[in-house]
Amino acid sequence: MAKVTDHIAEAKGKTIFSIEIIPPSKGSNSIDELLAGIEPMMELKPPFIDVTYHREEYFIKQMPDGGQKEVRSRRRPGTVGICSAIMHKFDVDPVPHVLCGGFTKEDTEDLLFDLNYLGIDNVMALRGDIAKPFNVFKPKKGGHAYASELIAQIRNLNKGKYLYEDGEPDAFTNFCIGAAAYPEKHYEAQDMEVDMLNLKKKIEAGADYIVTQMFFDNQKYFDFVNKCRANGITIPIIPGLKVLATKKQLEILPELFYLDMPAELRNAVEKSKDNNEAKEIGIEWCVQQCKELKEFGVPALHFYTMSKSATTLAVAKQVF
Ligand code: FAD
Repeated sequence: MAKVTDHIAEAKGKTIFSIEIIPPSKGSNSIDELLAGIEPMMELKPPFIDVTYHREEYFIKQMPDGGQKEVRSRRRPGTVGICSAIMHKFDVDPVPHVLCGGFTKEDTEDLLFDLNYLGIDNVMALRGDIAKPFNVFKPKKGGHAYASELIAQIRNLNKGKYLYEDGEPDAFTNFCIGAAAYPEKHYEAQDMEVDMLNLKKKIEAGADYIVTQMFFDNQKYFDFVNKCRANGITIPIIPGLKVLATKKQLEILPELFYLDMPAELRNAVEKSKDNNEAKEIGIEWCVQQCKELKEFGVPALHFYTMSKSATTLAVAKQVF
C-alpha cells in the first residue's frame, strides 16, 4: 500500500479528496453498516482514509449488588479492525490514529507491529484527548507525554531501533507519519509562538506531513501556513474541514475545538429558519472554502465526516 506523501506526490499538485471517519459507539453499528455509510464517498476515490482512535473513559457503574464500582471502558473501540476492513473492501490506504494517551511505549511498539503485519504504512501520531472525566492530560506510566515523543518512537522503529532488542533486524517498518496542528492554536499552548515551537519538535522528530484542526475562516489557515513556512516547516499541510450541519454546532464546535466562527457564517445560520436551511448554508460556506483552498494549491481537502456521507458529498461533488 502507498504512503500519504506518495499520494500527494503522485497527484502532481492536484488537490486530493480525503476523509476521516470515526469508529461507531460500541454496539451501535455493524461493520457492514459502517462500510455502507461511507461507501457513497468512494465515488470520489479518496486515496486514504483516516480512522480516529478513542481512548478509555472512567465512570462509576451501578453494580447488581447495589454497590458502585469505578470502571474503565472504551466506547468506540475498533480502529485497527476498521482500518483492515476498509483496506480490503475499498482498496484505499487506511490511516489509523495512534495515541500517547492510554498507551505505554511497549503497547505502542506492539500496536505498530500489528499495523505493519496488516500492511498498513501510514499512521497519524497524536497525544490524544484527555481521558473523561478528567481535565488534565496524564500519560500512562511508561507512556509518552507529547506527540513528538511518539513520533520519535515510530521513526526509530522505522530505523530498526526497538525499545529493548538490540541488533540489526532483517525487516523494517516503513510508516509515513502524520501530525496534528492548530491554525487557531492548541488550547493548552500559551501562545501561537510556543505552539509553533512545539509543532517544530514534531517535524524534527520525523513527521512527514501535517493535518490541521478544522477551521471556518480560510485566512486562519493561510496565516498559519505562512507562519510554518517562515519557521522552516516545509512538509505538506493538509487543511481539515467540517461542514456545519446544524444550528447547535455554532456553539458546540467553537467550544470543542477552540475555533472562531466567522461573524458572516454565524449571522446567516442564526437567521436560518431550521436545521435544513442551516445545513444548506453550511454546505455553501464549505464549498466556497474548498474552492479558495484549492486555488491556493492545498495538497488535499480532508473532511471530518463522522462516518456520514451526505454533507461531505454535497460539498465535494461541487469541488472535485
Ligand atoms: P501535542 O503535539 O503533544 O501537543 C499538545 C500540547 O502540548 C500543545 O499545546 C503543544 O503546544 C504542547 N506541547 C507539545 N510538545 C511539547 C513539549 N515538548 N513541551 C511542552 N509542551 C508541548 N484525539 C484523539 O483522542 N483521537 C484522535 O483520533 C484524534 N485525531 C485528531 C486528528 C487531527 C487532525 C487533530 C488536529 C486532532 C485530533 N485529535 C484526536 C485531538 C488531539 O489528540 C488533541 O488536540 C490533543 O489535545 C493534542 O494532540 P497533539 O497530537 O496535537 O499533541
